[in-house]
Amino acid sequence: MANPKKKHTRMRTDLRRHANWRISAPSMSKCSNCGAPSRPHHICPACGFYGGELLIAKKTKKKEDQPPQQ
Ligand SMILES: [Zn+2]
Repeated sequence: MANPKKKHTRMRTDLRRHANWRISAPSMSKCSNCGAPSRPHHICPACGFYGGELLIAKKTKKKEDQPPQQ
């Protein structure tokens, strides 16, 4: 079986890991309906539109009920 001849140094291991930890920001595009930044091929998180169609109706906050008076 293939076997490593020598132990890899910590530097060599760390250099390999360092090159692979970076995370790139997701590409963003503008929503055609509201102009908010949204990911391409995804439903707009701000208004719920995709392809000019309303797919997810956003919930509107109801007015807070007044506390019961006694
Ligand atoms: Zn939108």
